[in-house]
Amino acid sequence: MDLNFSGLSGKNQPETQHVKVLVLGSGPAGLSAALYAARAELNPVLLTGLELGGQAALTYTIENYPGFPDGVGGGQLGELFQKQAERFGARIEMDTASSVDLSQRPFRVTAFNGEYLADSLIITTGASPNHLNVPGETELTGRGVSYCATCDGWFFRDKKVVVVGGGDSALEEGLFLTRYASSVTVIHRRDQLRAGAILQKRAFDNEKMKFVWNSVITEVVGKEAVQAVKIKNVVSGKEELLPTDGVFIFIGHTPNTDFLKGQVEMDERDYIRTNMLMETSVPGVYAAGEAADPVYRQVVTSAGMGAAAAMQAIKFLEKSGEAQTVKAA
Ligand SMILES: Cc1cc2nc3c(=O)[nH]c(=O)nc-3n(C[C@H](O)[C@H](O)[C@H](O)COP(=O)(O)OP(=O)(O)OC[C@H]3O[C@@H](n4cnc5c(N)ncnc54)[C@H](O)[C@@H]3O)c2cc1C
Repeated sequence: MDLNFSGLSGKNQPETQHVKVLVLGSGPAGLSAALYAARAELNPVLLTGLELGGQAALTYTIENYPGFPDGVGGGQLGELFQKQAERFGARIEMDTASSVDLSQRPFRVTAFNGEYLADSLIITTGASPNHLNVPGETELTGRGVSYCATCDGWFFRDKKVVVVGGGDSALEEGLFLTRYASSVTVIHRRDQLRAGAILQKRAFDNEKMKFVWNSVITEVVGKEAVQAVKIKNVVSGKEELLPTDGVFIFIGHTPNTDFLKGQVEMDERDYIRTNMLMETSVPGVYAAGEAADPVYRQVVTSAGMGAAAAMQAIKFLEKSGEAQTVKAA
C-alpha cells in the first residue's frame, strides 16, 4: 500500500492540520467511512493505526464478504478498500492517535507524528480479540489458530478443533463449528462454564462437543499448520499433548478505546456507545465497526457502519455550513 508519512517531512515540529473529516482506523469501517466522505468531496484524512487494513488483513482468505464469489485475501481486500477511498481523494496517513480533546470543536486529535483539528471525527479503531499469549499462537494465526468461527469454520470440514473459553461466545461459536468439524473440544480453565443455561444444555446434548475441564493451553504446536495443543491441568499440574487441526480462541475482545476514556460515553466494557445513526455522546463525533459493536463483528457489518457514520458526518457538516469550506489551522 502507498502511504503518506505525516510529520516525517523534515520539519522538527509536528504539524497541526485542520481537516473536515478525520477517520481513526484503517479497518473495513474506517476505509469505508473514508470512501464515503471522499466521494462527498470532504477530503478526509485517515490515520491507519498500527494494523493497516485492520483485523481483516490478518486473515488469509475472506469468503463471506459479498462480491467475491471465490473469496479474497484479507490483506488484498484492505488494499482494494484503500485504493477505492484514495481514488476519490481520501488521504491515508500511517499514524496512530494517542489522545483526543473532544470538549470543543474543532476536535483536537494528537497523533504520534502530528496534531489534527477536525470538524468531525469518525472513530473506527476496532477491537482486538484477547490472546492466550502462549508460544505458537501468533505464528500459527491464520494457519489453524483463529478468533472467528463464522469466518474460518468452513475450513475445518471433517477436522478436529478445540475451542478455548467457557462463556457464551465460546459455546455459541463452538456449536457453530459442529456444522463443519468432526469434533469440537472445549478447553476451559474451570470445572464449570460461565455460559447461559440453554447454551450449556445445547452444548452438552451435542454429540460432537467434548469438554476438557480445569485446563489451560500452554503451547500451540505445529510448523506450517496447527498439529496439536499442549494442555496443562491446573489442578493436577499434569501436561499432555492433544492433537487438533484448529484452535479457536474465545476469551473476550477488548475495544481499542483506551485513549478515548473520559472524552466519549462508553459502556461497561469500553465499547463506544452509539445510537442507530452512529452518533456518539459528542455531536460531530461518530463511531463505527467493532469499536462500537460487540455483537456482529464482521467485515461487512463494520464496513456498513463506517459508511453510515460518514453519511451522518456529511449531514452534520452540511448543517453546520462547514461542508464547503476548508479552514487553515
Ligand atoms: C483472524 C481473523 C479473521 C477474521 N476473518 C473474518 C472473515 O473471514 N470475515 C469477516 O467478515 N470477518 C472476519 N474477521 C472479523 C473482521 O476482521 C472484523 O470484524 C473487522 O475487521 C472489524 O473492522 P473495524 O474496521 O471495525 O476494525 P478493525 O478491523 O479492528 O480495525 C481497526 C483499525 O483501527 C486502527 N487503530 C487502532 N487504534 C488506533 C488509534 N489509536 N489511532 C488510529 N488507528 C487506530 C487499527 O490499526 C486498525 O486499522 C476476522 C477477524 C480476525 C481477527
